[in-house]
Amino acid sequence: MRNDGTRRSAAKVTSTIPFFPPDLFEEDRQFVLDLVHDIALDPAQKFILGRRVEELERRICEESGTEHAVACASGTGALELAVRALGIGLGDEVIVPAFCCQPVASSVVNVGATPIFADIDPLTMVIDPSEVERLISPATKAIMPAHVFSVMADMPRIMGLAEQAGVRIIEDAAVAQGAVMQGRAAGTWGDIGVFSFFQVKALGSIGEGGMVLSDNGQLANVCRLLRNHGQAADVRGIHHLVGENNRMDELLAGFLVHRYDGLQARLRRRADIAAYYNERFSVLADLGLRSPPHGQDGRCYYVYSVLCARRDALRAHLESVGIGTHVYYPLPLPRQPAFSRFANGERFPRAEAAGEHNLALPIFPHLIDAEVERIADEVVGFLMP
Ligand SMILES: *Cc1c(COP(=O)(O)O)cnc(C)c1O
Repeated sequence: MRNDGTRRSAAKVTSTIPFFPPDLFEEDRQFVLDLVHDIALDPAQKFILGRRVEELERRICEESGTEHAVACASGTGALELAVRALGIGLGDEVIVPAFCCQPVASSVVNVGATPIFADIDPLTMVIDPSEVERLISPATKAIMPAHVFSVMADMPRIMGLAEQAGVRIIEDAAVAQGAVMQGRAAGTWGDIGVFSFFQVKALGSIGEGGMVLSDNGQLANVCRLLRNHGQAADVRGIHHLVGENNRMDELLAGFLVHRYDGLQARLRRRADIAAYYNERFSVLADLGLRSPPHGQDGRCYYVYSVLCARRDALRAHLESVGIGTHVYYPLPLPRQPAFSRFANGERFPRAEAAGEHNLALPIFPHLIDAEVERIADEVVGFLMP
């Protein structure tokens, strides 16, 4: 690799490389301590929904180009606000990916609506627009595409389908903050988009947090009311809507504003690591390992996942040489005990295959070049005859 990450010593190269780096926020430690101090001594004594939360919302608007941003308690909380703001409820259907994390289904079920699972593209592992098209019914109220790992869902096609059917889009961009497709930022394609600030996501933080994005002022206002017990920010005690507690605290917002500064550089480093892996793994295409597609458009590099026929053997080998990996969504949502009643007798062969074959390799931005090379060497060495 050309790009030389030098922050960690070469001595670490032979030691273990974790999948989830425990030192993700090492450089931010002093900032966190100072921030706690500032908030504790701030005369305003406002610990939630204060000026730092407002600053973060402004920053999200500037960076993504969305008109409105509403900070909330988690990515899951943001999906729940989105579903409720669109008035989705009993008898309504929402088309969601079969291969994804559970909030895409639970946010729908929790309002009494029905998740309709759509199978995925076998290579990119995001929702297949042809399946979405087949599943649209008179009861469909919304489509909830999610960007998965490093690939954005096919938003132009999904937008076309939604327009044709007159249904809304909730864009789960929990993992795709900073990604851009055809010049348009992830999170700004749907009627409502969501980000997550969970520790390992693109921006990442020291706790739970999420964001709702929308160009529709009315939808954003409903989310603002809902997140705070149905109350307007300036008048407490009047509950306009049946709300919830889905708020962001000042510590998190202050940390996120601080952490925004290096985001683009970290995303570039991740993209460089992915490009290097892709180049090294091109020789493995006929040996049972498929890398994610090349390129930058519509890519986010939150996670770098390959599909490998001998996934478990490769994983065991990497483990034995001290390289941590991760398997996402081994059991697709319609096969989960909590959601199998929504499977409708359908089969989801591509979601099943993705669950059996995906393997995520370390891609955190402070990996040094020698570590990235070692990971690639081990993968190639194991699979080459
Ligand atoms: C992480 C994630 C969420 C939920 O975000 P939290 O902040 O963890 O609640 C939703 N959707 C996807 C695709 C995610 O990866």
